[in-house]
Amino acid sequence: MSSQEHPNDKRVSWHEYFMNIARQVATRATCDRKHVGAVIVRDKTILSTGYNGSIRGLAHCTEAGHLIEDGHCVRTVHAEANAICQAARNGVRIENADIYTTASPCWNCFRLIANSSIKRIYYGEFYRDTRSLEVAKELGMELIDLSELMNDPSIPIVGEPKHDDSCGCGE
Ligand SMILES: [Zn+2]
Ligand SMILES: [Zn+2]
Repeated sequence: MSSQEHPNDKRVSWHEYFMNIARQVATRATCDRKHVGAVIVRDKTILSTGYNGSIRGLAHCTEAGHLIEDGHCVRTVHAEANAICQAARNGVRIENADIYTTASPCWNCFRLIANSSIKRIYYGEFYRDTRSLEVAKELGMELIDLSELMNDPSIPIVGEPKHDDSCGCGE
């Protein structure tokens, strides 16, 4: 039921709803070089969430500084990987689910998403990894650009607005 079908329904669309939540999740990220949030969803129900942060129990970038390797901060586990870990910790099946992520996945996260049998990736901004786009096609997965939904000014944006070689998101 969309707002188009019912002009008096002023609610956000499902895509906006889940992307807005992913953006809120991103505000908990602990590496300020890039804040990313991810939400895994099936049948309009949130199964798990994740943001980029340190290994559980270890110091965060905000406390210990970044851990830079080849120009990237490698201290954090990425948002998409953490969402998959959260599902695993709680015994939640994510097969055939969708993932909403504020930035399209890096190659490492893409491989985890693919092997979790998540079929659709909705992303808020394009990340530089184009390999995922090509491989997704081959795997029958979809990568869907929702960047036009990233404009709710009430949700804070932290970190670089766009990825580039210096963003150090950890790939
Ligand atoms: Zn960092
Ligand atoms: Zn990643």
